[in-house]
Amino acid sequence: MSGMAVEDGDGGRAALRLEDAVNDTCPWSGKPISSDSLTLYRGFTVGFCNTGCRDKFEAATRHFEAALAAYEPEDDAPDSAETQAG
Ligand SMILES: [Zn+2]
Repeated sequence: MSGMAVEDGDGGRAALRLEDAVNDTCPWSGKPISSDSLTLYRGFTVGFCNTGCRDKFEAATRHFEAALAAYEPEDDAPDSAETQAG
């Protein structure tokens, strides 16, 4: 019964299913998403028209996740903005 040959190049993504994707079309091109171009975003399956579009998205999300992890809001703003010399 298990005659399907599945390429599992990178583990987790092999379990993602097209029918579980929250979107129907690729955000980059507007084309229908493809079953081999899925990834997880915030715990949800999202799809792209091809693996190149997916990889571009993954690179962007990793970039911002790393930036957010390192981000420290500045709480002492420079006070030269509203200086009135009288
Ligand atoms: Zn695309």
